[in-house]
Amino acid sequence: MTLTEAELDRLIKDIGLKKPRGGSQRKPIAHGTYKGARQHRYREEPLCEPCRIAENAYQNERYAARRGYLTEEQWQARQAGGSL
Ligand SMILES: [Zn+2]
Repeated sequence: MTLTEAELDRLIKDIGLKKPRGGSQRKPIAHGTYKGARQHRYREEPLCEPCRIAENAYQNERYAARRGYLTEEQWQARQAGGSL
């Protein structure tokens, strides 16, 4: 099926979308995920609540993973002296 420009315009209006400009349509933000949080930051807009929570969870997980393979002594040494 082929739509004329006018038909396409009407269709876009009907479903409440903004017409993409230059073919570079932005992807919808994946809210509630770390990826979504990064998309917010990339667009320099404040994070929504689900994205903020997801980002926090991601950071905590990374932090926990980092701590996981180091003993407390190794961690302290790394903090104090840089590389082991
Ligand atoms: Zn969001």
